[in-house]
Amino acid sequence: MARYIVDKTQQPSGKHIIHNLNTFCPDVPDSQHQKMLGMFPTSRAALREAKKHFELVNGCEKCSRDSYVP
Ligand SMILES: [Zn+2]
Repeated sequence: MARYIVDKTQQPSGKHIIHNLNTFCPDVPDSQHQKMLGMFPTSRAALREAKKHFELVNGCEKCSRDSYVP
């Protein structure tokens, strides 16, 4: 299990990126821009949770590759 957050700031594409906090990902936003999602076994599960909050979401290319869509 790993702890995931979603970036409250949308990317130029309109998507909100999820990050795995257990990976020390360099692209994790400052804490005031993070929305905590919780603990999930996979980034795909975290992405499903993030979709409850934001319409357009994507996995981070660096830390959530199994849900990253180019
Ligand atoms: Zn990341």
